[in-house]
Amino acid sequence: MQDRVAVVTGANRGIGAEVTRQLRENGIRVITTSREPLDGFATLDVTRADHIDALARRVKADGGLDALVNNAGVSLDGFDADVARRTLAVNLFGAMHVTDALLPSMRPGARIVMVSSGMGELSGVRGEERARIADPELTREGLLALVESFVRDVAAGTHARRGWPSNAYSVSKIAMNALVRVLARELAADPRGILVNAENPGWVRTRMGGRSAPRSVEDGARTAVWLATLPEGGPSGGFFRDEQAIPW
Ligand code: NAP
Repeated sequence: MQDRVAVVTGANRGIGAEVTRQLRENGIRVITTSREPLDGFATLDVTRADHIDALARRVKADGGLDALVNNAGVSLDGFDADVARRTLAVNLFGAMHVTDALLPSMRPGARIVMVSSGMGELSGVRGEERARIADPELTREGLLALVESFVRDVAAGTHARRGWPSNAYSVSKIAMNALVRVLARELAADPRGILVNAENPGWVRTRMGGRSAPRSVEDGARTAVWLATLPEGGPSGGFFRDEQAIPW
């Protein structure tokens, strides 16, 4: 039988390192990636097109991919249009561009996992913008236009009036969850049967989560690994915590 192969972004520490460990425990070969060059890791800054291209070439030459875990993420200090742009560049566009680049090499039955957050719950947005994001017919173009309007509204100081939270991380994860639904619809007609879902790891003890977080990296990684190894006929376009579907 062919080796199962996975790519994990931001695998050098925190939840990504633990996802890698658990995938390997499941007998899956993991191509670990890290933003900075490190021994044993493919260098992947998810905001760098050249890094993404190099990884896609490697995966293709390697014979294909069975799982992608988009785990790399940032939670930046402060809140202004620049913070919003830089946060979206990693948490939303990074995950989107890596997924798009690796999709052609995905084998039948491949799984895509987005490590999202409780901050990605729709309740973070109010009014018309919320209705637009939650629209089951939302397209990729529509989603991109919405996040661009968020950044413009932050720059203009009108974001709160329009229903956006004053939190770039939250908007990036809400948009990531919307992307999961868009991708699930885009992939529904793909004969490879690829499933794409988002995980809420809960509040986890990592550099991002801090020491007082109640959950271990093992807890935070488990559902991502479960989603990365879902059997045929599993869910797609969903949001999960502790292996249970949760409302978005
Ligand atoms: P972490 O320890 O801070 O790890 C973040 C990882 O993302 C690091 O490997 C980091 O690389 C990488 N990264 C950041 N920017 C990147 C870029 N441009 N390109 C590639 N990699 C990049 O945090 P964590 O808690 O494990 O977070 C992992 C994921 O879980 C994130 O998506 C986060 O939003 C999500 N999450 C965490 C919690 C929590 O409580 N910890 C809760 C909800 C969701 P460097 O080492 O080079 O910085």
